[in-house]
Amino acid sequence: MKAIVPSGSSNLLPLTTSDNKTNKKSSTKTKKRKRFSKKNNYFDESYIAKVEQLAKIKQKQEEDKASVRLHSFNGGTKSHESGPVIKKGDKIKSLKSASVSAKVKSSSTLDNVPVDFPETILCFEVYHNKRKFLKTQEFVVLGRQFLTEIKDKIYCLTDEIMKKVGQYETSGYFLIEDVFCNDTRGYSSIDYSKPILDWLENSKDDALEKWEYIVAGELQQKQKDLLDTEKKQQLPRFKAVNMQSTRFCDIRFRLGAGYLYCHQGDCKHVIVLRDMRLIHPEDVQNRAAYPLITFQSKLRYMKCSVCKIYRAQKITVDDKWASSNPCYFCDVCYYMLHYANGSLLYNDFSVYDYLHE
Ligand SMILES: [Zn+2]
Ligand SMILES: [Zn+2]
Repeated sequence: MKAIVPSGSSNLLPLTTSDNKTNKKSSTKTKKRKRFSKKNNYFDESYIAKVEQLAKIKQKQEEDKASVRLHSFNGGTKSHESGPVIKKGDKIKSLKSASVSAKVKSSSTLDNVPVDFPETILCFEVYHNKRKFLKTQEFVVLGRQFLTEIKDKIYCLTDEIMKKVGQYETSGYFLIEDVFCNDTRGYSSIDYSKPILDWLENSKDDALEKWEYIVAGELQQKQKDLLDTEKKQQLPRFKAVNMQSTRFCDIRFRLGAGYLYCHQGDCKHVIVLRDMRLIHPEDVQNRAAYPLITFQSKLRYMKCSVCKIYRAQKITVDDKWASSNPCYFCDVCYYMLHYANGSLLYNDFSVYDYLHE
């Protein structure tokens, strides 16, 4: 550092870069620094600021590293404590099952219900209500479990919004093949399948026409021309059952086929039963731990458009002082921009709570 500023030199900058490394061992730092700041205060300040900035970044990186290590370490110990029966030697061998058993801990609390044999395990996928090809969750569920057990574990933003506005209701159905499985547990549950079944009953021709189109798509007409067949499509015999009294082993389904989950009026998701197998000794043997979440898509959050640091908590629309429309705000920035001495400055805009994307 000493030679960064050779005594009497007025040409500071080039020397700073070239001599920096070779003279680190010098012991007369203070002397030099005095001279340095005297001669060129501007460069000194910007240099120190830069170093401080880099030190901060470095520190942040170290903290991140430490937290990641801590996290994975915790996961490991958790699984060791809570896993089914994991011998010491097996700990590394089955990483995947270890991570699964870590999740079991959080969901199953203290219950320990042995699994009946033979039991089947099903892989159940849920897709996004709008981005239809985006898988949001994946579960492992037992064949003897009721469909409501998995419904209660499905996460959807619509549920959260309805809870916020106090209009949440438990009604909903799974349409699997030709069976509507209605959730009728709630006191004021609505049978969503009823108007559909009524329409099928009362408008048979209309329904059949639509069904033919659904089944064959645009190829229908071409096939008809080619085969010259008068064979009429048959409408499936749709029926309805209660979800809470229907188990996976009670229903007929095809692996990999897309079925429907509908809730909160008309929030619809594709669901897929992807795989089926017998339970294995390495699977979690506690029935209360199922349905196990094996995949959960990462939730995306927007940052506050003002400070660009904190997660957005509010979103405004048609807000004349906002930088964009719609505009995201953290609570702090929102109140700083819209309130003075506790009173709202203007109200010709709409504001909503923001949860996530
Ligand atoms: Zn939904
Ligand atoms: Zn902010």
